Amino acid sequence: MKTAVVGAGASGMMAAVWAARAGSDVFIIERNDRPGMKLNITGKGRGNVTNNCDIQTLIKNVPGNGRFLYSAFNSFDAQSAMAFFEELGVPLKTERGDRVFPVSDKASDLTAAFNRELKKLGVPVIKDKILNIETENGRVCGLTGEKNKYHCDNVILACGGRSYPKTGSDGTGYHLAEAVGHSIVEPRPSLVPLNVKGSIPKRLEGLSLRNIAVAILRQGKKLYSDFGEMVFTSFGVSGPVILSASAHVAREKLFPCTLVIDLKPALDEAVLDRRVLRDFEENHNRDFANSLGKLLPTKLIPVIVELSGIPPYKKVHEITRAERQSLVSLIKGFSLEVMGAGPFDQAIITSGGVSVREIEPKTMASKLVKGLYFAGEIIDVDAYTGGFNLQIAWSTGVCAGVSAAEEVIA
Ligand SMILES: Cc1cc2nc3c(=O)[nH]c(=O)nc-3n(C[C@H](O)[C@H](O)[C@H](O)COP(=O)(O)OP(=O)(O)OC[C@H]3O[C@@H](n4cnc5c(N)ncnc54)[C@H](O)[C@@H]3O)c2cc1C
Repeated sequence: MKTAVVGAGASGMMAAVWAARAGSDVFIIERNDRPGMKLNITGKGRGNVTNNCDIQTLIKNVPGNGRFLYSAFNSFDAQSAMAFFEELGVPLKTERGDRVFPVSDKASDLTAAFNRELKKLGVPVIKDKILNIETENGRVCGLTGEKNKYHCDNVILACGGRSYPKTGSDGTGYHLAEAVGHSIVEPRPSLVPLNVKGSIPKRLEGLSLRNIAVAILRQGKKLYSDFGEMVFTSFGVSGPVILSASAHVAREKLFPCTLVIDLKPALDEAVLDRRVLRDFEENHNRDFANSLGKLLPTKLIPVIVELSGIPPYKKVHEITRAERQSLVSLIKGFSLEVMGAGPFDQAIITSGGVSVREIEPKTMASKLVKGLYFAGEIIDVDAYTGGFNLQIAWSTGVCAGVSAAEEVIA
């Protein structure tokens, strides 16, 4: 078997290693000068390599077609991925939320380990950009690149999605798959900042909120809720809870929707009201605008004061009970209108891609073209943050690699 892997990203390198270990003659074609450009920047350069959890938890963290990955996760789970990297000489550690990182905190150590292993297995990485998959009688027979033509028996398409296109994954893989008959579920940015209507984000730009609860509502229905950390950007909101929320709304383009932030989730309205009352008593003769310093971050105070409708220079002792209660409701339900998701170049991943209906879940083989396999983000699967997206790359990469090498040509 001569197996060509298109793309030396996380999934392509994994597929190539396992195809070679299973006995295939493998080569990788990568358009960039170096393999693993995206892998090197994962986890802010620290490489959140997987999540040390069980298969059910992996699937739960894949809102986009999680069930499709059951077989792949079953054959190569998070613990298998950890053992794999440890064997390649990358010691790992598990942090908060079961997130796994190299002990060195360097994602580039993962790429370096792949490079060593590929070299050991005799797998060359050829620099070229693939433009077409060649087929004969419904079977893959080669590839055409910008520079050369390549003969092969199998092709593993591991070209990634469309997010962070400067890393090389700019969506060309979808065209390659489409040209041989595959359907592409519209790619959309996911794990991406959300754009918010109006000037509030700009006024709050850079402000991080910790220990807040968020909910995303649309037409009265709660689409998502979470607890954690977020940050305001010039156009909207970002940070862990927002990126996870985006995975729910971006896929179905559920915009506009409302982001409701509970700034004090640990206190119910009655307790918060008593707390505000106490602060007001301490600031009895001050202006309202100067009375919230203990309750809210400084940058947020003018915005909350404005939205409360209470005149900023009103003396605290003149504030009515109804005004105080509306302030409490505002702190428990600070609402922003979300108009859409940020662009692909800010998205951690792409939701959408090659339809899972046309891929065998056990082997990652195309149901339409013999000898064609898929691995990684090019497939219509997407997960939350926490190491789950790389785990998808590892599991599908191993499946595609082993299946391609073991395929018997009829
Ligand atoms: C900033 C950032 C941080 C992230 N952090 C994490 C994290 O910590 N944990 C986690 O689980 N996930 C993380 N992710 C997501 C994760 O990086 C991806 O899900 C994963 O890299 C997908 O692997 P892949 O092999 O499918 O695609 P990619 O890694 O994108 O690799 C695709 C490769 O194919 C090449 N290619 C594309 N088209 C062609 C062509 N026509 N010819 C030749 N070569 C081609 C590209 O140049 C590229 O090298 C992060 C993503 C980003 C952008």
